[in-house]
Amino acid sequence: MTSAATAQRVSRISVDILYTGGTFGMVDHGDGLRPRQGLGTEIADVIARFERENGIAVRFDYTELEQVIDSSDAGPDTARRIAERVRSAGAQRRPDGVVVVHGTDTMAYIGARMAFELRDIGIPVVLTGAQIPLGLPGSDARSNLTLALNSIAAPSVSTTFIAFGKSLHPAVRASKRACDDYDGFTTVQECTPPISPPRLPEIHARPDSMPVGLFTVFPGMHPDLLDAALRHYRGGLVLECYGSGTLPLHGSATVQAIRTATSRGTPVVVITHCDSGTVDLDRYQPGRAMRDAGAIGGGDMTREAALAKLGYLVDLGLSGSELHRWMTTNLLGELSNPPATQPIPHTSN
Ligand code: ASP
Repeated sequence: MTSAATAQRVSRISVDILYTGGTFGMVDHGDGLRPRQGLGTEIADVIARFERENGIAVRFDYTELEQVIDSSDAGPDTARRIAERVRSAGAQRRPDGVVVVHGTDTMAYIGARMAFELRDIGIPVVLTGAQIPLGLPGSDARSNLTLALNSIAAPSVSTTFIAFGKSLHPAVRASKRACDDYDGFTTVQECTPPISPPRLPEIHARPDSMPVGLFTVFPGMHPDLLDAALRHYRGGLVLECYGSGTLPLHGSATVQAIRTATSRGTPVVVITHCDSGTVDLDRYQPGRAMRDAGAIGGGDMTREAALAKLGYLVDLGLSGSELHRWMTTNLLGELSNPPATQPIPHTSN
């Protein structure tokens, strides 16, 4: 993504900072790292130093969740609740940007969902965190918050992204790939947002949130496991398959489970384990069988973005062919359009 250092910087910014938990503010009282409340003073110190070192005046408003969490505890509503807070605070104070301090374990999932929820917010929303808590030797907390603030001082895009280590990652393309490296995140495939964002239909959001889930196939996978996941996640299931979209057939048990689910209205979205390339359900017989059973090809979406988008569209009240249409439409750059597949070169011996 664009480097914060290359865009035009301003000399003053106003920022909302929301602390939700994560290693950034954790302490270890002898039983392992845990999140703690009350990080306002330390954050103010980091900002004062940022102002001195960068010559940028920062007007900021600091809030934190009533109960900060280890982000591994994030639930199905966590991203939506954070997005609501960001939106309502933004509407009141109209900051230049928002920084959300968050745990790294689920930052890409939460960030991707926030990106869909806040797709029209018009200001940068930056998630950041740390691999080592603030104040401990070798901590990356201050430098990551500094990167986030700099990205608001030199805004290049008004979207949701992750500032971590040396890089900015569009949230809909980000994935945590290291727990032992300051550069903990990677951007999986290029992010190419549509030039004019498509307008989703006005549909009444569901009052009851239907659960959506994620299931990864593996050699030896018992078909009952997939069936159980499809029954539990009635809102929809992202199915992370092999390669261009294949899975163990078990005779036809897995495809039959998919057919049963789609015919009762549970969408199934097929994505790939691979970091490069895209799902092509026409290529192999298991892919065709899934497509004929009603599965939707999820292109080259990351697991985090696919789960976020499916949950977002289902919560908007979309279903059937409408859901299929919007799931396969590039909304924010989460999906390459046209598909990123390159023909495999023919080699002859
Ligand atoms: N378990 C922590 C969390 O996600 C890890 C981190 O923040 O780096 O909250």
